[in-house]
Amino acid sequence: MKAVKSKGNRSTEIKLIEIFKFHHVTGWRRNSNLVGHPDFIFPKNQIAIFTDGCFWHGHNCRNVNPSDNAEYWQNKIKRNKARDKAITKELTQKGWKVVRIWECEIKKGKVQKLKAAGLFSGKESGTTKNA
Ligand SMILES: [Zn+2]
Repeated sequence: MKAVKSKGNRSTEIKLIEIFKFHHVTGWRRNSNLVGHPDFIFPKNQIAIFTDGCFWHGHNCRNVNPSDNAEYWQNKIKRNKARDKAITKELTQKGWKVVRIWECEIKKGKVQKLKAAGLFSGKESGTTKNA
């Protein structure tokens, strides 16, 4: 494992790719030019996936509360959240299904949101293995 220094977001994206592979999810694309630049899109299903960093997008899962410049961070996070909302709305209006997954959910391998979006075909549900 290489340490990923840059944004932290990269490592969550890589982790999500591992999850896709594990669940035999195919058809995803990266680096889309859609509004807000979703981290992953599924063009066929019109599903856009964002991996949101817990700190930058204001998840309340943990107490990330920088003592210095607290106001500065709070404002930044507030702006991010507002932008997230606007992007979700715009994509939804264009017919996309938007799935936002928190960094902490990806780290824990929580994939309920992906399942709910219909991305997992159920191959992993372990019905029967007999031919
Ligand atoms: Zn979180």
